[in-house]
Amino acid sequence: MAKLLLVMGDQLSENLPSLQDAVIGEDIIVMGELSSEATSVRHHKQKIALIFSAMRHFAKACEADGHTVYYQQYDHDNGAKDFAELLTNAAEQSGLSDISMTRASEYRLLTWQDEFAASWNGTVSLYDDIRFLATKDDFATWAAGKKQLRMEFFYREMRRKYNILLEDDKPVGGQWNYDSENRKPPKSGLVIPAKTRFEPDEITAQILEVVEAYFSDHFGTLDAFDMAVTREQALEVLDDFITQRLPDFGSYQDAMIADEPFMYHAHIGAYINIGLLAPIEVITRAEQAYYDGHAPLNAAEGFIRQILGWREYIRGIYWHFMPDYADQNALNATKPLPAFFWDGKTKMRCLSQSIGQTITYAYAHHIQRLMVIGNFSLLAGLSPKEVNEWFLIVYSDAFEWVEMPNVSGMVLFADDGIVASKPYAAGGNYIDKMSNYCKGCHYKVKEKTGETACPFNYLYWDFLLRHEGKLRNNPRLGMIYRTADKMGDEKKAIIRQDAEKFLSSL
Ligand SMILES: Cc1cc2nc3c(=O)[nH]c(=O)nc-3n(C[C@H](O)[C@H](O)[C@H](O)COP(=O)(O)OP(=O)(O)OC[C@H]3O[C@@H](n4cnc5c(N)ncnc54)[C@H](O)[C@@H]3O)c2cc1C
Ligand code: SF4
Repeated sequence: MAKLLLVMGDQLSENLPSLQDAVIGEDIIVMGELSSEATSVRHHKQKIALIFSAMRHFAKACEADGHTVYYQQYDHDNGAKDFAELLTNAAEQSGLSDISMTRASEYRLLTWQDEFAASWNGTVSLYDDIRFLATKDDFATWAAGKKQLRMEFFYREMRRKYNILLEDDKPVGGQWNYDSENRKPPKSGLVIPAKTRFEPDEITAQILEVVEAYFSDHFGTLDAFDMAVTREQALEVLDDFITQRLPDFGSYQDAMIADEPFMYHAHIGAYINIGLLAPIEVITRAEQAYYDGHAPLNAAEGFIRQILGWREYIRGIYWHFMPDYADQNALNATKPLPAFFWDGKTKMRCLSQSIGQTITYAYAHHIQRLMVIGNFSLLAGLSPKEVNEWFLIVYSDAFEWVEMPNVSGMVLFADDGIVASKPYAAGGNYIDKMSNYCKGCHYKVKEKTGETACPFNYLYWDFLLRHEGKLRNNPRLGMIYRTADKMGDEKKAIIRQDAEKFLSSL
């Protein structure tokens, strides 16, 4: 029986399970630029542009391969608003009622698929998404009976499962992890290779007009849009990364330099997440670069760990703990987001740089997300719901399955230690060591309290004192609390006062 084959905006892969048995001349691929998805939150304009343009290019490639595609371009007034309406319209027009879909990557849409399948007047076949390297069952089997779900041990299993950087079943070089050689501060004179950019083609230019016309109130700007929108372009980005940046990836993975938004990172998160690149091809390219003598082991291993380890682990956590995970708030944080999260206007230079580039490029690298914006959110006690929504809005690679455990788990400790063994809290010293932001900042990183002191310094101690009841017994925080014990009551009172004054001024 001929079928309708639904392809969602983050399912743009030729090997998508529901496309595997597509019969050319009979089945119809169904795709739509939907307002329900574009406005589920006020996504960054560049994220909408990326997904709509990549969808149009993917549909064109399917047609070139001989497939029939029912494609709804964004139609603000008369177009189908959501997947149910899109499929109903496609079914009416084609006379087909059997549908195949690949299971959605996030909870909201997976729930919709199950409900839709139960109510649709025809067969709905749902396929597991095989584009990930660990299935939900693999993760559940690994997690069963464990008191702690630490990424490092999951990663070792994944290395074994895919035989990556292994010799005779042992990790190449004798260690699983080479982070002791990574994470150097930036040194002066670093020459950072230029980011791979693409001039918008005719399709992308049309999409940019649509986004400006209908999503003008969304976060961010479109001016710098230069993203890959086809698999070929995404492969070019990957090539450039492997040849130009991977060798220095490990060393400068955590480094931040003012006005250098991209550093030695790969800039491929969005492309993997929407299906233009497959995680395993990225991993094997990095592994090969090591065996070819092009990249040192610390760089190749460190990079592979991000994808084979962190990415799969984070997805495992999401599905293992949803839907309850979305409501976690172990530190009872309730403060609303400060206005500068939306316009980047703050005298804290680390934050204005990290948020500023997020507005311009829909991108910030991991340490800017974790140790600048995330760290501030944690120390200031911002509400997990609001912080999650912000992170889901602002990055082109943001999808709930990967955004939420990073935010609620790694950044905010809202999941009470499922992801992180302790909160990633740090004062200004860490940012000063890993960046050159502090040099041009209004605040003084060496000052601990007072009008001109770096806010991260007193917010850090205020956070630890505020949560002493919960965190003091964490074995990884023992030494820090012993330092706090040596502070006099007067010093603690000044810290609390400075923190309160600063937070109430936001
Ligand atoms: C608060 C916070 C929010 C985040 N939100 C997202 C998100 O919405 N979407 C997203 O894809 N990543 C997210 N990350 C993870 C990471 O920051 C991005 O994947 C990375 O910055 C993307 O840029 P890149 O491709 O240059 O990455 P690189 O640093 O070059 O890393 C290579 C790849 O490894 C993977 N990766 C690295 N770290 C992680 C991680 N912690 N979790 C999952 N994958 C990882 C990504 O696929 C990434 O593309 C978040 C991290 C934090 C701390
Ligand atoms: S002094 Fe503090 S606020 Fe300013 S850039 Fe450094 S860490 Fe950020």
